[in-house]
Amino acid sequence: MYYEPVIGLEVHAQLLTATKIFCSCPTAFGSESNIQTCPVCLGMPGVLPVVNKQALQFAMKTAIAANCRINPENQFARKNYFYPDLPKGYQISQFELPIAEHGYLEIDLEEGNRTKRIGITRIHMEEDAGKLVHELAGVSSDASYVDFNRTGVPLIEIVSEPDLRSPEEAGAYLRMLHTIVQYLEVCDGNMEQGSFRCDANVSLRPQGTEKLGTKVELKNMNSFRNVERALEYEIKRQQEMIEDGEKIIQETRLWDADKGVTFSMRGKEEAHDYRYFPDPDLVPLIIDEAWVQDVRKQLPELPRQKVLRFVKQYKIPEYDAKILTACRQLADYFEQCVKCYEQPKKISNWIMSDILRHLNDPRNITGFVVTPVHLAELIELIDKGTISGKIAKTVFDEMRATGSMPGAIVKEKGLLQVSDEGEIEKVIQDVLDANQNEVADYRSGKEKLFGFFVGQAMKATKGKANPKLVNDILRRKLES
Ligand SMILES: [Zn+2]
Repeated sequence: MYYEPVIGLEVHAQLLTATKIFCSCPTAFGSESNIQTCPVCLGMPGVLPVVNKQALQFAMKTAIAANCRINPENQFARKNYFYPDLPKGYQISQFELPIAEHGYLEIDLEEGNRTKRIGITRIHMEEDAGKLVHELAGVSSDASYVDFNRTGVPLIEIVSEPDLRSPEEAGAYLRMLHTIVQYLEVCDGNMEQGSFRCDANVSLRPQGTEKLGTKVELKNMNSFRNVERALEYEIKRQQEMIEDGEKIIQETRLWDADKGVTFSMRGKEEAHDYRYFPDPDLVPLIIDEAWVQDVRKQLPELPRQKVLRFVKQYKIPEYDAKILTACRQLADYFEQCVKCYEQPKKISNWIMSDILRHLNDPRNITGFVVTPVHLAELIELIDKGTISGKIAKTVFDEMRATGSMPGAIVKEKGLLQVSDEGEIEKVIQDVLDANQNEVADYRSGKEKLFGFFVGQAMKATKGKANPKLVNDILRRKLES
């Protein structure tokens, strides 16, 4: 029997505000422990939280981009549990009245080249907890330490419907969400530092049935690849258990990336275990339609819209458009290049091959030594026949190393393309004279040797000969 995986994702995104959600402590990552704290985020008695308006607007932006309905009245709630990294003994979150509900995102799937709509149940705001440090550099001790710098950092949790049916779909949804929060500039998307993290709920059910199976929650997956691997593993594990007649236990399991397995952490708690109740220190937030419209106006063009526009406006393939819009920075770079020199497809080719090869992360295009002005001029030099495509690669490497303009490099290094017919003719005659056996072979039918002669001629001119002229003259001479 085939079992269908049913997957839902819960994504926590850290909002890019300068200060925390209920106090004015800074949110910067990597500071000395416990210096970004105050009585509010340390949970001292008698203090009162005040909502960070920026955090609220960032949550609204995300909600609008995810096609959610923003609740006109929403409220913070206390989620009660004990853990040493939670000084108040409760986390301020949202429960019955979250900031937004009933949204969706559209994802593109390679398999079957189709689009699928994934429902978003809700988006709510909450504060982050602190961090436990079990090993302290240079200190040997049995104790653990707490760093409260992260306590009170604003998060949004984006909960999807269980609409995902494979690790591939989960990966595509997660990547889309990741791209969107960065387009919106509400989250830096850094998965290693935990500012964008994902938990997954996964269960199996016999194909064609409606009833959901017992779900298992997966945690500790800090990259797209690990989310996909953990889901693959967990689907297989559950399938084998069902086939062996065993019962799936509702629990939380941790992914071990080194071993490639999930293992049980604890039984899964239910919402009522947390005794949620409205936080009496925080009045309900009223968001009127005018405010929603105001935030909607601030939204940038989103990835899917950009893809469609690029295809239409620049007449480039959708494949190119998707790569170029992977992040806003790269899309901006492409458009600046086109502004300098209107050859979108040629520019796209250079970006997709030569430029992206040198960037670990496409976002690093900002500050890349080869600017749009450089690239545009380089492509123009090829088009005008000043340099050959082959020499352009040399010029590109030189630009990367020195930051000089391509025109200046061509002049300085003497890389001008040779388009003088007499000169090329002489070179070709020398090549033919030096390879008389090959000439005879060619004339008796070994036409593959044509490439050999081209190669020799290019070599003799150090790649500078105009390839079209080389081809034309060679053909004329060999066929005369
Ligand atoms: Zn504080």
